[in-house]
Amino acid sequence: MHQFGYKRGRLYCEQVSVEALAKAHGTPLFVYSQATLEDHFQKLDDALSPVDHLICYAMKANSNLGVMRTLANQGSGFDIVSGGELLRVIAAGGDAKKCTFAGVGKTEDEIELALRKRIYCFNVESEPELQRISKVAGRLKKNAPIAIRVNPNVDAKTHAKITTGTYENKFGIPYEKIESVYRKAAKLPNIWLRGVQMHIGSQLTSVQPFEDAVAKMIPLVQRLKKRHNLEFCSIGGGLGIVYEPALASGDEKWWKSKDAKGILTPAEYSRRLIPLLKQLDMRIVIEPGRFIAGNAGVLVTRVEYVKKTAHKNFVIVDAAMNDLIRPAFYESYHEILPLKQGKGGKISSDVVGPICESGDTFCKDRLLPRIKEGDYVGMLSSGAYGFVMASTYNSRPLAAEVLVNGKTSAVVRKRQPVKEIWAGEHVPRWLK
Ligand SMILES: *Cc1c(COP(=O)(O)O)cnc(C)c1O
Repeated sequence: MHQFGYKRGRLYCEQVSVEALAKAHGTPLFVYSQATLEDHFQKLDDALSPVDHLICYAMKANSNLGVMRTLANQGSGFDIVSGGELLRVIAAGGDAKKCTFAGVGKTEDEIELALRKRIYCFNVESEPELQRISKVAGRLKKNAPIAIRVNPNVDAKTHAKITTGTYENKFGIPYEKIESVYRKAAKLPNIWLRGVQMHIGSQLTSVQPFEDAVAKMIPLVQRLKKRHNLEFCSIGGGLGIVYEPALASGDEKWWKSKDAKGILTPAEYSRRLIPLLKQLDMRIVIEPGRFIAGNAGVLVTRVEYVKKTAHKNFVIVDAAMNDLIRPAFYESYHEILPLKQGKGGKISSDVVGPICESGDTFCKDRLLPRIKEGDYVGMLSSGAYGFVMASTYNSRPLAAEVLVNGKTSAVVRKRQPVKEIWAGEHVPRWLK
């Protein structure tokens, strides 16, 4: 469910006209719905209510301070992947003690920072990392809370760039080796074995792979819990969202329709996983990113030109792959809608950005309403892995971001001034 939809032919985010925001703040512009963020968090919180649980929002999906504070106010913890993200949690008013620290490449400085800020847990991905954490914790005379990431070798059946739970990829420690690694970890000084963790991939649209992975993990986790007195089990993130049809999926009725059958919903996630999770009798941690933020944002862009060729109708917009890289990177789908509904009929179109790469394409040969120069369009479901993956390629400044709350809105990140792009650069003395 989300809070984007047409009212009297105009696209609204909650009770604010998206076009009014585009006119006031310029484009490209990310617009986020606070009510949607809260609703998605709450639905997962309710789904897990039969067990003791902690939701650690995977902030790499969208780490704007306004978004982060919205979730911190709901009681969310955060799944972080760098020292920078931990500092961001603190800047946003979040609680470092509710942070889990993931990632295969934690540096000594990052480990030290996380220990000083007393994070909830390090999710450890390798034996060398265990040794490094033990060493840094020893130096600081602290005990480092850790969970080891199990790679359950379950195929998440998602895009190759975002599947993580098979032996083909760099994540975690193989299921068969995990007990011996826990035994070794138990002998290391300054290590506190607090939990066990897994994460099998991103954008999973059915519950089945989660169910398979959790079922496979149960006997293992029960043994580990008994042997090492573990407090929690994290089942990771990866809950998928509906990208198509994104607009319809905002409607409560759609979720109950036959089109939505088989789609991962919090209710289905709960119905299938809670009976398994109850057997563990441990605190359950989840790390959803996309599920919370994905359908809570749109990227708004203005049409600069419409270029008709013998074969194509190209709609050239002022957003590009530097603003939203997902279509270029994962061939992903974003629903594209005019902010103002017209009567002009539909035409097969390619929506493209201005960057000199053919990959700078948001959609190909898609039947879209006729759009003309100066019109605005919104790319739906851009709230996760959108702005956070933006770059200044082509010396294009980072877009502005706005958070909507009911009838009000606020700029939560101003458009980057263009000179800031090269502010850290210098021409060396010998060239002057
Ligand atoms: C990326 C990631 C997540 C969040 O994934 P989503 O698909 O956005 O839910 C959770 N846990 C880990 C370890 C991750 O790497």
